[in-house]
Amino acid sequence: MRNYEDSYRHKGLRKQLVDQLRQKGITDERVLEAINTIPRHFFLDSAFEKVAYEDKAFPIAEGQTISQPYTVAYQSQLLEIKLHEKVLEIGTGSGYQAIVLSEIGAKVFTIERQKNLFDEHRQFILRKKYPNIKYFYGDGYEGLPTFSPFDKIIVTAAAPYIPPKLVEQLKTGGKMVIPVGEGGIQRMLRITREKDGSTSEESFDTFSFVPMVEGRNGHAN
Ligand code: SAH
Repeated sequence: MRNYEDSYRHKGLRKQLVDQLRQKGITDERVLEAINTIPRHFFLDSAFEKVAYEDKAFPIAEGQTISQPYTVAYQSQLLEIKLHEKVLEIGTGSGYQAIVLSEIGAKVFTIERQKNLFDEHRQFILRKKYPNIKYFYGDGYEGLPTFSPFDKIIVTAAAPYIPPKLVEQLKTGGKMVIPVGEGGIQRMLRITREKDGSTSEESFDTFSFVPMVEGRNGHAN
């Protein structure tokens, strides 16, 4: 069960969350405004409603999580989205990150490997409000060749290595933000695809994501 009412109390809690993110070093005003706008409690079971605006990750279905707001803000800021850019997201999960990117002006293509999570988005209350997000059921290691190339790619699960097919689907000068590492901790990397097809790499802070798993889970129907 979820509560789809957005009250003044919720709005007040969001403002406090945005202040916390500012204190933790998030400076991109568009990202902060998106978080201030989007009712995060819509993405969580009502059991989590009271804590929905704490800066924490929470469980969703299938043993997966909705990322911590700080992590969502951090990755969104590193992407340096420009209006109407095409962005590929790996790991739709709750859909919160995709909606943050849409809110700051991106055209979002998002892939989820868990059939049940993918199916939930058909009904989701905010779906009609964000028509510039396209949802796909598939394996993020494959990317979306049909819709490539992308200006930006964001991976929201822990990648053991940089998936080569994702690099191939970046435009020249395009950037991918991806947490890389095995075990509990990953390093946030920003990969830029250069003119000659090679890549350059910038390294940022460490995070802890659920793993990026190969193949799809569930049955297509
Ligand atoms: N962006 C999400 C975070 C979800 S957690 C949000 O805002 O809520 C990571 C998600 O990545 C999980 O839902 C998991 O099922 C998914 N995932 C893991 N490996 C994947 C893969 N190879 N392809 C697509 N999705 C994957």
